[in-house]
Amino acid sequence: MHELSVCTGLVELLEEQAEVQGFNRVKALWVEIGQLSCIEPEALCFSFESAARDSVAEGAALNIEQAPGQAECLECRASFEALERYAQCPECGSFRLNILGGEELRIKELEVI
Ligand SMILES: [Zn+2]
Repeated sequence: MHELSVCTGLVELLEEQAEVQGFNRVKALWVEIGQLSCIEPEALCFSFESAARDSVAEGAALNIEQAPGQAECLECRASFEALERYAQCPECGSFRLNILGGEELRIKELEVI
């Protein structure tokens, strides 16, 4: 399951941050996931709970925001928001796109104790 490996990575990152920043517990976190990342927010929440068990993030509230992907058309150079990987250029109708963002998951904010 894709979301579980994403969560395991996320928890590892939080443990690292706990050491660097010197906190003991994550109370809440806000993450942004790109709409092209193929991550389901509900599945992510569910996986996070089990991935966070016995870690600094146990019981932390996970808040998810979805961000649209950014794409650039290789034909006419228009840039636009892409909601799916195989989007079509709204200017010229081309499918030859360069995906510039929206595939990542990033932590926006942490509330720690
Ligand atoms: Zn175009």
